[in-house]
Order: sequence, then C-alpha cells, then structure tokens
Amino acid sequence: MKEILLLKLGEIVLKGLNRKNFEDTLMRTLRRRLARLGDFRVRAAQSTIYVEPQNDDADMDEAEDCVAHVFGVAAYSRACTAEKDLEIIKTAAADYLADTLGNARTFKVEAKRSDKKFPYNSPQICDEVGGFLLERYPHLTVNVHEPDVIVTVEVRDFAAYVRAGLVRGAGGIPVGTGGKACVLISGGIDSPVAAYMMAKRGLELMAVHFASPPYTSERAEEKVVELLERVAKFSGRLKMYTVPFTRIQEEIRDKCNEDYFTLIMRRFMMQIAQRLAADKGAQALITGESLGQVASQTIGAIGCTDAVCTMPVFRPLLGMDKEEIIGIARRIDTFDISIQPYEDCCTVFTPKHPRTKPVIEKVAAEQNKLDCEALIEEAVKNVKVRDIL
Ligand code: ATP
Ligand code: MG
Repeated sequence: MKEILLLKLGEIVLKGLNRKNFEDTLMRTLRRRLARLGDFRVRAAQSTIYVEPQNDDADMDEAEDCVAHVFGVAAYSRACTAEKDLEIIKTAAADYLADTLGNARTFKVEAKRSDKKFPYNSPQICDEVGGFLLERYPHLTVNVHEPDVIVTVEVRDFAAYVRAGLVRGAGGIPVGTGGKACVLISGGIDSPVAAYMMAKRGLELMAVHFASPPYTSERAEEKVVELLERVAKFSGRLKMYTVPFTRIQEEIRDKCNEDYFTLIMRRFMMQIAQRLAADKGAQALITGESLGQVASQTIGAIGCTDAVCTMPVFRPLLGMDKEEIIGIARRIDTFDISIQPYEDCCTVFTPKHPRTKPVIEKVAAEQNKLDCEALIEEAVKNVKVRDIL
C-alpha cells in the first residue's frame, strides 16, 4: 500500500494575488527540507500539497516530523493512495486504518469527490465504505456527531486517498515571504521564543549573539547554537553571527556611570546588530523583551534603546507573561536548553541600582564618553559567522 502525506494550506489561501508566491515559497521549503530524508515528490493541487515518496527508502516518520515544523501548513495527515475503484477503496480503508479502527469504538466516514467522473457521489461513497468497515470491524458503531475516528475518503484527479483525522500543523506563513529580520539571541528563555514567533509570521531569520570571553564561556555560546538549531527546525537554516563584546563592556565599566551600565550595553547591542542586519539584507531587529520583566524592560528603558535604532524592532513577547512564554518554549523544545545555567554577557556586569526611569539624554551623554564608532566598527570587524543546520 502506498502512503503519502497530505498537507492543508492555512492562511496563505487568503492572500489573493500573493497566493502563488506564498505557495511557491512553501513548496520550495518543503522540497529542500525533505531532500535529505529521501526522494519525495511535492506537488500542489486544490489547496492541498501532496508529498509522495518515490521509493521505499524514504522515511515517512521523519517526513511527517519535517512537515509538522513547516510554517504555512495548517494541518496534515498521512494517507494511503488507492486506485479510483470503490472496491479497492473499501479494502484500502479497512487495511490501512486497521490499528486506528481496532482501537476505536465509534466512527464515521466523510467523502470528498472532486473528480466528478467518479461514478459514486459523496453520500454513496460514505454508505459503501461505512458498511464495509462495519462488516470488517463488528465492534464499531457509527456516530455522526462525536465519532472517535473520522475516516476521510478523497477522490481526486490522480487517485483516491484514505486517511483518519488531520493533525494540526505549525500554522503561520511560509518563511521568507515576509522578508528578513535579525534576532538578538541570548541563551535565555525569551529570545528563542521571539525568533520562533517572528519566523512564524513569514520572516527569514539571521541571528546575532554577543559573547564576552573570558567572562562568558565557550559552552555558553554552544548553548546558543543548540537553541538556534531548535528554532531552525521551524525557521529553516540561518546564519549566526557572534560578536566579541568584552572590550565594549569593559570600556563601559571603566568609564561610564554604573547606574546606566545595562542601558548603554543594550544600545551598543542594537547598534551593532543593526549594522550587521543592514549589511545582510535584513530590515528589522527582533528581541525577546517583555514589558516590565526586568529593569531594562520598562517603557523608559525601551525608549532609551529604541532611540539608537533606525530599523523597526519587533518584540513579539512584549505583552506576554513569563508563564505564557515558557509554554511556547516547552512546545518548541527550547526550554530545557534555556534553563541550563550558563552565564550571559548581560549578567556579567550588572549595576546595583539600574535606572528604571532613565533620561535618554543622560544615557546618551554617558555613552558618548566612549569612542562609540570605533568600538562598534571593531566589534563588527571581528564577527564570527557560522551556519545553523
Ligand atoms: P532572554 O531570555 O532572551 O535572555 P531576558 O529576559 O534575559 O531575555 P535581557 O537579558 O534583558 O532579557 O535581554 C533582553 C533581550 O536582549 C533578549 O531577549 C535578547 O533579544 C537580547 N539579548 C540579551 N543578551 C544577549 C546576548 N548575549 N546576545 C544577543 N542578544 C542578547
Ligand atoms: Mg537573558
């Protein structure tokens, strides 16, 4: 019996003239990501994408896991293909869904006939297949309102497909259709979630990480790599730029008022990230800030960091509680990595009395005690790049 994956498109069907672009991007993404799992044919028809293995070597479990992480797929299901012959469809349904039906008590059959030349209409297909399944599995009863299993038969152009229920997909919009943005990624809980959320809205990602050796360790950087690998399961491959930040932090420590330490550091981060972003064709920054979470995330502090930004800054977690953020981190499998205790450059020199209501001019004056341009240039020049995935 030949098994395939049927993918249902989400929001992208609403996009009018852009639809073709969205669909093409999604198909390209699927082809690229499935390529390493075997020989799959990917094609679209009637708001469904068909993923068909071309030989027995293709791993369907891995392919299913792969499509579950692709944005733009609203729902998916494994299905078996059958010749467009009612008797063949009946036995295919009984055999293919043997385990599912064996474990169920109630079921119903739904049929969709887009090939109008097929000699049975949808109600007839339901009756025939339903009757056959009742004979084969006498413990079952039909329940049209709340069945344990919905058996769906789709008779389409090339073949018929039999499947049980659909599984919810990653949702969102295909990555790359919304442009490119640069996430400032730490080893914490929040920024990987922020990256995931913006990729879900169609943005291709690049990532910038600030490291301050020897205050921060090699292992802390590896942790960020692991986090990005989890994010990349959804967003697709991306580049990570590690910026040497020690010199800047030491300069701030030595020459600026301690109360403004964090704010000045964050302004440098934004300035450097922005420069790298512009250079790589990204049009916005992404951070994991959540309003009021810490002293550097008050309305005034955010104003101080935004004052040095010419690009829009996306903060998808701004209105979320920590619990909600953790919920997403668990779902995307970053939480367990994030809570490993490695130092971040933000926690290296923290002021005893951070200003929660800073005055922008005062912060700027403190920062301007340093030769900012030279420091930024030096940091950008010594960036290290690596491929994630
Ligand atoms: P996170 O959980 O993402 O670390 P946080 O709650 O610890 O966030 P901060 O330390 O104030 O908050 O950092 C705010 C944001 O600044 C982070 O979400 C991230 O986008 C960015 N950031 C912090 N540290 C770094 C770093 N070392 N490299 C790159 N970006 C960073
Ligand atoms: Mg942090």
